[in-house]
Amino acid sequence: MHEELMALALACGADKAAVIRGEDVVLSASFRDICRGNGCGMYGRCWMCPPDIGEIGELMARVRTCRHGLLYQTIHPIEDSYDFEGMMEAGKKHAQVSQRLNDAVKPRLEACLHLSCGGCRLCERCARQDGEPCRMPDKALPSMEGYGIDVYQTTRPTALKYINGQNTVTYFGIVLF
Ligand code: SF4
Repeated sequence: MHEELMALALACGADKAAVIRGEDVVLSASFRDICRGNGCGMYGRCWMCPPDIGEIGELMARVRTCRHGLLYQTIHPIEDSYDFEGMMEAGKKHAQVSQRLNDAVKPRLEACLHLSCGGCRLCERCARQDGEPCRMPDKALPSMEGYGIDVYQTTRPTALKYINGQNTVTYFGIVLF
């Protein structure tokens, strides 16, 4: 089953995937402070990001109920480390991979929790910024960091590298089950 899930992630467009134990997902409540610092500009501006996704202790506890995680990544070329447009475009492509994978795993893993990269990215402008309800609540995926996942520490023992060379940007997602 684990091999099948990894193959599914690759078929949906991920560059690498691994199934890890739920207990090996590294969590830290300090990520809420990092989100609050708003380095990405999405704090309070996306329904799938803090503070709207919920209290971090409860979200971390939910992660801890999962026995396994299908961790996946997408790697994208960018012009240089200032290529903000390229990073945004890459984020949208990652969100599309996450959506394909979501559709593929749902029939297999009914009670899974799928987290992806921050900012949702399904709409050009999140409805949160206009005080309107989420336009696609069945599709929108919360961010890993929003749930307190330390992506760097979680990937360290795996074959999925956090950084994949000069002029690339890497995004992650995880399906917890
Ligand atoms: S689907 Fe659209 S409205 Fe809903 S969280 Fe994502 S970007 Fe925001």
